[in-house]
Amino acid sequence: MNPLLIAVAFLQLDIESGTVTKRNWPQQAEPVPIGSLAKPFIALAYAEGHHYTYPRLTCKPNQCWLPRGHGELSIEDAIAQSCNTYFDILRKQIRTELLETTARRFGLQNPDRATPEEILRAYVELHRRAAEPGVQPILTGMRRASRQGTAKLLKLDALAKTGTAPCTHTPKAPGDGFAIVLHPASAPKTALLVQIHGRPGAHAAREAGTLLR
Ligand SMILES: [Zn+2]
Repeated sequence: MNPLLIAVAFLQLDIESGTVTKRNWPQQAEPVPIGSLAKPFIALAYAEGHHYTYPRLTCKPNQCWLPRGHGELSIEDAIAQSCNTYFDILRKQIRTELLETTARRFGLQNPDRATPEEILRAYVELHRRAAEPGVQPILTGMRRASRQGTAKLLKLDALAKTGTAPCTHTPKAPGDGFAIVLHPASAPKTALLVQIHGRPGAHAAREAGTLLR
């Protein structure tokens, strides 16, 4: 096995000071595909062009990672369940330049690939801008993710988002799971990013719960 391959990588920040408090991430300067972790920024880019309102959309069977489909979703549900169909539809309605500009406002130089620290700081910035138009529904969705959505294995009341992205390790797995957690939900003090090799984002959330307890 590649000595740089570890099953669980993580990066933790103290939100108030912005300092890194825990780090176990080989090749930390290497951008990785961020996959579903881009969804909040896709949503915000969409909102900017659509009077800051989000649609209700239907995820039908066999369109999404959940074979039976997610049914009708609000933005909050779509974030909580990480519905691919919902965000694919939003993504098709925004110009790439708008997505790039929005992502850059949160420190993401590229909305598809970023270093672990860029990703984590982008979510801290998202929370810091909670009062800006369009942001609150996303944070509500992240809280719902930790309670009954894709991050429920976290077993903590937090703001969370999971994701799966193409594996960047050797040997290659079908995908790597990610979880971003801002904890506790009411007034987050700690931000944590976990990457788990070859497992879905739900498992990354469970690891995050262990790291935060
Ligand atoms: Zn779906």
